[in-house]
Formats: sequence, structure tokens, C-alpha cells
Amino acid sequence: MRVPTSVLFEKAYGKFCIPAINISNPEQVLGLFSAAKKFNAPFIIQTTPAARDYASPSMLINYINAAEELYPGLVFAVHLDHGNEKHAADAIASNAYTSVMIDASHDSFVNNIERTKAVVELARPKNISVEAELGVLSGVEDDLSVDESNALYTDPNKVKEFVEATHCTSLAVAVGTSHGAYKFSQGEGLRFDLLDEIQQKLPKFPIVLHGASTIDPKEIDRINKAGGNLSKKAKGISEEDIKKAISYGICKLNIATDLRLLWTRIFREFFMEHDGEWDHLKPGKQYMEELEYLLEKKFVLLNAKNKANLYK
Ligand SMILES: [Zn+2]
Repeated sequence: MRVPTSVLFEKAYGKFCIPAINISNPEQVLGLFSAAKKFNAPFIIQTTPAARDYASPSMLINYINAAEELYPGLVFAVHLDHGNEKHAADAIASNAYTSVMIDASHDSFVNNIERTKAVVELARPKNISVEAELGVLSGVEDDLSVDESNALYTDPNKVKEFVEATHCTSLAVAVGTSHGAYKFSQGEGLRFDLLDEIQQKLPKFPIVLHGASTIDPKEIDRINKAGGNLSKKAKGISEEDIKKAISYGICKLNIATDLRLLWTRIFREFFMEHDGEWDHLKPGKQYMEELEYLLEKKFVLLNAKNKANLYK
């Protein structure tokens, strides 16, 4: 059952959170659908413009369509992550997406409102949810790069005006997370004071956290032991912060880096330990199996395990 993200958030608000998993290849799609079935969890499958450039939008849509056929009866949304107007219009016209993000967060407040409003007007007749972003996240996601020192936290005093003017259905906020593997390298955590103010201004309104991988230090170690050279400063959001954030109305958590680290570790270790191998199918299979285990941990952390039945 493919549903808009707003439908997922209605039941999740304050109680659990929907993991939004970035995918760009069939191993990730199969691992995600298999895990969601096994653990009876609702989920969001999402594609960035960079992923769409990599595999082509229609290939990604058809991966998802095929997975839906292989694993019928799951509850999920298909979301465009970090789109501009063109990406959003294309996703809306495809009839495959149930949710799109318009990311005009780097633009002025007034322009962000205008650009978000235009996408909402396009999406609403098709009952497609629209995520907007206010405040700028630091770090690197695909082709986005924002200098850490220029990171702009979301201003809680602007969120109500923004949501009322645009009619977006969820809002991504900048409250301390960043994209990539070095989220909290200085040791800071989530700004719960800001989340609290945002929730007071927007009670019951679904809030989205980007850059929400936890970055397992054991994975960094193993990658480095297998020939990698990732900084020990690589650090994600803590599990404690994630659990706490759910009560502040965080309904969607974007997870991309953890899946990339898993891929890097498995492929590095595999080809290092098997220097006579050249076939990617074996580590690919291992990736799908270990991805299920990683996603089970996410479903449990977000209290989303066994929640798919709520939507049936
Ligand atoms: Zn993001």
C-alpha cells in the first residue's frame, strides 16, 4: 500500500518515527522491502536527484515497482528527497511518488515560501505530500555542500508563518544534524531547545530530521582496517537523541550515510579477504542480508517495528 507521507505521520506523531531510506541501487531496494516485511514496519523509500542521475529516474521507479510486486502488502511512501521545482514536477507527473521535497532552504525566506507554495499547488490535486525545509543543514549530501560555519539553524519564530503560507505537509528543520559522516565531530548534540520551541509553534505538525545516521564507530574501524582512511572524528546522531526527538514531533528520519558505510565496509572486507574474487554478487548478497539487520535496529530505535498493521 503506497501512501502519502502525511498518512504515515498522522499515526506516528509523538509515538514513533518513520525511517526514510535513501536508495540508488537494487540491493538497497530489495534489502529495505525484505526488512520491512520481516519486521512489519512502515517506511519511506526516497531518491535524491543525484541518485536519479546515477540510475535514471525510471530505473529507480521500476526497482521500487518490482519490489512492491515481490513484497505485496507493505505500507510505504515513495519520496523525492532534496528536489527543486523541476525534479518535483517530474516526480509528481510520474504517478510513482506519493511525496516530494522542495528544498529552497538556501533561498531567502520569501522565495522559499513562494517556491514551496508553487510545488504544493502542483502536488495537492494528486494527494501528494510536500516536505519543505527551513534553515540550512551543514555537510555534504550528494551535490549539496554547505560550509559548517555557515550552517543556519531553523528560526522557531518563522516556522508557523512558513507553514501557514505554504501549506506544506511536513517541515525539515536544521537543529544540529548535518549530512555526511561527520555530523557531531565537535561533540555537540541535537538542539532540543529549538525543537521544543518549534513544537510549541506548530503543535501536532510533522517535523523531519535530515542527516540522521548514527555512524557506528565499529564500522569506521572495520573500513579503516580493510584499507580505508576515514577520520575517527566521523560521528553521527546518538541513539538517545533520536529516541528523545520522537516526542518532539520528529516523524521522519532520513538515513543515507549508514547504508553507504555498510556498503563500503562489506565490499572492502570482501575483496581484501578474497583477493582471487572479482564477482560483486557475493558481497552484494551479503549487503542485502546485513542491511536487513541494520534496518531492524532502525525500526526498533524508532519504535516503528510492528507498526505497519496500524495502517491496514
Ligand atoms: Zn537531506
